[in-house]
Amino acid sequence: MIDLIIENGTLIDGTGAPRRICDVGVVNGRIAMLGDLGGLPAHQRFNASARIVAPGFIDVHTHDDRLLLNRVEGPHPKLSQGVTTVVTGNCGISLAPLVTARPPSPLDLLGDDAWHFARFADYLDALDASRPALNAACLVGHSTLRVRHVANLERPATSDETSRMAHDLDDALTAGALGLSTGLYYPPARAASTREVIEVGRPLSAARGIVTMHLRDEADAIDEALREALQIGRELAIDTIVSHHKLVGRSNHGRSAATLAMFEDAAQHQSVCFDCYPYNASSTMLLPARVKQSDEVLVTWSKADPSAAGHSLFRLAEERDVSPEVLARRLAPAGAVYFAMSEEDVGRILAHPMSMVGSDGLAHDVQPHPRLWGTFPRVLGHYARERQLFSLETAVHKMTGLSARRFGLHKRGVITPGHCADIVVFDEHHIADRATFTHPTLACAGIDAVFVNGRLAYRDGEPHDVHAGQVIRRAH
Ligand SMILES: [Zn+2]
Repeated sequence: MIDLIIENGTLIDGTGAPRRICDVGVVNGRIAMLGDLGGLPAHQRFNASARIVAPGFIDVHTHDDRLLLNRVEGPHPKLSQGVTTVVTGNCGISLAPLVTARPPSPLDLLGDDAWHFARFADYLDALDASRPALNAACLVGHSTLRVRHVANLERPATSDETSRMAHDLDDALTAGALGLSTGLYYPPARAASTREVIEVGRPLSAARGIVTMHLRDEADAIDEALREALQIGRELAIDTIVSHHKLVGRSNHGRSAATLAMFEDAAQHQSVCFDCYPYNASSTMLLPARVKQSDEVLVTWSKADPSAAGHSLFRLAEERDVSPEVLARRLAPAGAVYFAMSEEDVGRILAHPMSMVGSDGLAHDVQPHPRLWGTFPRVLGHYARERQLFSLETAVHKMTGLSARRFGLHKRGVITPGHCADIVVFDEHHIADRATFTHPTLACAGIDAVFVNGRLAYRDGEPHDVHAGQVIRRAH
């Protein structure tokens, strides 16, 4: 007997192939059969007529390490968008392995009360035990390893410290981590040399792990930073993913034509690609240097002055009669949204065949960037349907099949027999993001149902069975 038949829907299977009318049959959490299944008996039927049936979306760039452990009351920022799998631990920041009560910025983007996993395996076990709402594949953060092992973060690691970091990475890979992430832009890792990252990353080569990299610079020195990332991937001979590719600062607008050409050249010799989010504003810790590059800055949270959250840094600075940079220092530790990209670059990067979709959402911010709630419907509604930057099939591919292949997520991302039954049903005419910079936590419109491993997890705005996620451990 078939557990579930999603019938009468229009299937977009995640490979980029054209849509077709097709029923989907699910047995034991797996896709069992495709075709006209109208006459077959089933425990449960879901009518998807006039709807798109697609693989559940894969958010390849998240900071959901801690969110996954928590029970979310009400709509879930990711499930509500049709996301069924997240990749955690990006930008050098992973919740494990590190025990501390005072994580330095930007590690504190994950809060300061959940840093109690001495081993990566302990974190994965806790994730299993928490029965997460979504599937999770987890990266180890280089900055987390530095905070754990490097005595002075203002200098490159010693050879001793480097081998301790490499040893932790090796342990994590054995436990099932997907690979390593780096954030050389951020204070805890800025002093790390290219050589340090390569030596820490050594275990990735034999284990066939991946590396995701927040570049050392996304502004004036982006060419050099991109060359460094490519060198690291090449020397380790591993799949390399550049995170949230973008160009920051007015003087760099338009340079994506050149950076994308660099990616294309590199791809002739090594495995490389990138992710991006569909907004022309970024968000991270509040950094005076980035304030200077921005046309507008919104404070997302501040420990020193919580009342600043949701306000323009420039307006607050004027009211308080200080420079924005001085105020940025006074509000720290804090987070911000920066308007510093051009829409032309965002569109060009998103449309490139090497790009995947990742939200980079920050779930613990008081007034978060709307990408946390709106990324996937925004690509499908705004960029595919309204601006016709690409077909709906291509948009879905960028958030499913391509992502699963690039991140080595086996049996995910494509609707085909034998694959896990992560499925989203949505209305292609009405799907739209509703989260804005002033109202950033509004759930999107147009998602009818989300199935995680064959179980209905979300329907018509309401969470259902929210414990269907699995920890995806890297296959050995
Ligand atoms: Zn980042």
